[in-house]
Amino acid sequence: MKKRRITSLAAVGAAAALVLAGCAGGGGGGDQPWEVADDVELEGSPTLDAIQARGSIVIGVKEDQPGLGYLDAATGERSGFDVDIARWMAAELGFDEDQIEYSAIPSANREQELVNGNIDMYVGTYSITDDRKEQIDFAGPYAITGQGLLVSADNDTIQSDEDLTSDVTVCSATGSTPIQNIRDNYDATPMEYDTYSQCIAQVEDGGADAVTTDELILLGYAAQSPDTLQIVGEPFSEELYGIGVPKGDDAFREFLNDALENGGDIWTAIWDNNLGATGIEGDQPAVDRY
Ligand code: GLU
Repeated sequence: MKKRRITSLAAVGAAAALVLAGCAGGGGGGDQPWEVADDVELEGSPTLDAIQARGSIVIGVKEDQPGLGYLDAATGERSGFDVDIARWMAAELGFDEDQIEYSAIPSANREQELVNGNIDMYVGTYSITDDRKEQIDFAGPYAITGQGLLVSADNDTIQSDEDLTSDVTVCSATGSTPIQNIRDNYDATPMEYDTYSQCIAQVEDGGADAVTTDELILLGYAAQSPDTLQIVGEPFSEELYGIGVPKGDDAFREFLNDALENGGDIWTAIWDNNLGATGIEGDQPAVDRY
């Protein structure tokens, strides 16, 4: 069995550094790198028409994923790379923080919430897939990561995805691409919850051997508990994060794609503010105008 200690140590270092990133800001305060646009007009977008008529934008997010989409219950402050991407896109559409309504939605319910018109867009570790595109559309991608593994710090039997044998219980979120990959391609015993924080609790309590999801997500949890949790192995999938939008509103999708494409400096500032301390180089991916 191949040991991949170098990678896991690098990931632990990145995770430890992420603890500091929480202090680096990038939140809804006054120091954000974007500006709120005036008088936005867009022909042929029912989504923006509805947002403008309502006077607020409803954005689906995660709120238990530190570094990406997180709600501090004590202060009410939201933070993270995804949340700042959402704030930036809202600003491009002409809406500031006071006009954003956040809606926390777990992985399994994202498509349906968009289809039902309960949210205007979704920004939260949402991988672009052909299956999902049957129900919704995606702007982006705006980030790329890959499926990883997180285990207890004292676990030295699971070193990589090659160790996911049938006696290993692996926890992930219902409706996510990582749990589907486990079911389709691995012998490991799957365990599902609505959220990844529930899976983390299972590993901490010994109910599951590992959590699997995108490495960017796992880094945030490892940063919170560097003494008890570790990331092991190399990423074993490619996940392209998109902004989920209602299907068929091409004007809205292309508006967001233009904003992402023209805002390279803003993107870099958002990455650096939220994830720069991980040491992972933030490279903005090219948008896919399918
Ligand atoms: N990016 C993966 C997905 O969209 C996993 C993360 C998540 O569940 O949000 O399924």
